[in-house]
Amino acid sequence: MGPPGAGKGTQAELFQRRHGVPHISTGEMFRAAVRADTEVGRRAAEYMRDGELVPDAIVQQLVEDRLMQPDAAAGFILDGYPRTLVQADALDEFLARRGRALDGVVLFDIPEEVVLRRLTGRRVCPVCGTNYHVEHKAPHVPGRCDLDGAELIQRRDDAPETVHRRLEIFRRWTAPLVDHYRALGIFLAVSAQGTAEEVYERIQEFAASRAARAV
Ligand code: AMP
Repeated sequence: MGPPGAGKGTQAELFQRRHGVPHISTGEMFRAAVRADTEVGRRAAEYMRDGELVPDAIVQQLVEDRLMQPDAAAGFILDGYPRTLVQADALDEFLARRGRALDGVVLFDIPEEVVLRRLTGRRVCPVCGTNYHVEHKAPHVPGRCDLDGAELIQRRDDAPETVHRRLEIFRRWTAPLVDHYRALGIFLAVSAQGTAEEVYERIQEFAASRAARAV
């Protein structure tokens, strides 16, 4: 968990690649649903456009369906979920019913002004969903996706006023989850500043200690 632009998606992708567990991003699933014009996509679209949270019931159904896919049986990384206490409780219950529980929760700690800079430079491929950044992760050909050549766009929810709204929502709804997970003893706050590799190392140490406890 962490504010928008903290680097959750980048780290989750690294973990997926190196540990072979699926990266489950509710934001990415919603964006894919919007692109495919599914019922979920149509219901989520206006909330996303304004930077508001999609209602918990819609999110929960989406996540539970995803977690029941075979590739999530041996583990998964959740990115951008849970974002409210209602979602956190629903997730705990869903996992408990299956004799499972979260191994660890990482908070990406980062000043808001850094996040604002990161988000304004963010670009995404409208075709395949790959993320870029004009400074930190530039495509080989400026403005074009490395994978399919499509013209990159700025997400509407990365517009400055929407970003401010998303930060406010993070403070109000998601930050309280820190106490919830701290109480469960599975929580770590890491500094999300520095290179992706540096942040990865910080999380890796925590993940290894959690894995050692689970054995
Ligand atoms: P993200 O890419 O994680 O920032 O998500 C983009 C947008 O999708 C958010 O601004 C919300 O509108 C919606 N969204 C993603 N995950 C959730 C969630 N767990 N709860 C509510 N809305 C969500």
